[in-house]
Amino acid sequence: PERARGVIPGGVNSGQRNVPGLTDLVITRAQGASFWDSDGRRYTDYHAAFGPPLLGHNDPDVVRAVAEAGGSLDLCGVGVTEGEVELAETLVELVPSMERVLLTSTGSEATFHALRVARAATGRRLVVKFQGCYHGWHDSVSLNVISAPDRVGHKDPISTGILPEVLDATLVLPFNDRDAVRAAFAEHGADIAAVILEPVPHNVGCLLPDQEFLVTLREECTRHGSVLVFDEVITGVRHGLGGWQEVAGIVPDLTTMGKAIANGYPIGAIGGRADLMDMFSSRPGAPVFFAGTYNGHPAVVAAALATLRKLHAEPVHEHVFRLGERVRTELPPVLASLGVPAVVTGYGSVFVTYFMDRLPHTYDDLLDNDTRMFVGYRRRMIDQGVFELPLNLKRSHFSYAHTDADVDRLIEVTEAAVRAQL
Ligand code: PMP
Repeated sequence: PERARGVIPGGVNSGQRNVPGLTDLVITRAQGASFWDSDGRRYTDYHAAFGPPLLGHNDPDVVRAVAEAGGSLDLCGVGVTEGEVELAETLVELVPSMERVLLTSTGSEATFHALRVARAATGRRLVVKFQGCYHGWHDSVSLNVISAPDRVGHKDPISTGILPEVLDATLVLPFNDRDAVRAAFAEHGADIAAVILEPVPHNVGCLLPDQEFLVTLREECTRHGSVLVFDEVITGVRHGLGGWQEVAGIVPDLTTMGKAIANGYPIGAIGGRADLMDMFSSRPGAPVFFAGTYNGHPAVVAAALATLRKLHAEPVHEHVFRLGERVRTELPPVLASLGVPAVVTGYGSVFVTYFMDRLPHTYDDLLDNDTRMFVGYRRRMIDQGVFELPLNLKRSHFSYAHTDADVDRLIEVTEAAVRAQL
């Protein structure tokens, strides 16, 4: 930690900065459902590096595929590899909206390109986004009102350094609010280039979307010629091989993916309608210029192909969905017996505990979550070697490597941690 603080701002690169004490955690290795710190302590991992390792850390089949691809085979940028074609074909087959696919190295790039092509195709400026949704770090859309409940209602960006023009070109609406969507289109329809959303906002835990809300988005975008973008960086692959669009039966115009596609290797993907995707090119004078040194890196593509192959061949979803369902059904009565108002929600492999008396449906509902309870219980969980996400992100993930014994322990440790908070 001392060395880290000398060279890395705050001593840590990601997500733990806001959790007292956790900036001292130095991770030495990860395997399956666990990671270890430099004191040799093992943690059962529900954080999962914000979500990628659906198969578990260092899945042997993925690791083998990467080794066989050869880490130094940096052919990206030269031409196309067979692996890239196979991966694009696989995604086109799996994801309803994808007629063409381009690979990126992160989810942020995928959403950045999606909004850029939407603005280019429509000649319009405004992007509609929703409270509680996060789409990566870039300035194509304002990142305001993304996560921490104490920021509800703030119209300030969560980060400074964003151009005012970007904020002006972003319309932030309440999630699950059809009337707000209709009103926004009635007023600004001719200027709305794109509507982007996490179909299930998981960066605030879990707000399950009303089907009618998604239907309204599809209808309004079609009526007004705006591009509907599903940001499935979290939900894609994890909630089913075809993502939430398959679950909901609603086809967006563009889809962005990342995280679980390559089980932890750096990847993103953007795909969708051929007429939009064909605007991208790395030829000078192309309607939308597209390039990236590491896009389609052979080792990453090999990881993605091995991941998708295994997701097809083995009952991964069945396993992680069953574990998730166990927590969602078995934890609530335990918390109720302690007299603590709590709901356990989520979908499939993702579970989320809110300390409130009803399921949150909108971002504003999250104001009622007892965050003091969450912070205290999570700290106690970590002391017992059960690692969940920090306060503002809140979702927990199962992987194929988690077991029923992990669920038993999770419930036991949660009960003890919450009891100690009373
Ligand atoms: N979109 C969503 C929905 C995300 O959750 C994230 C990352 N948490 C991103 C985009 C950005 O992806 P990356 O961190 O790979 O740039």
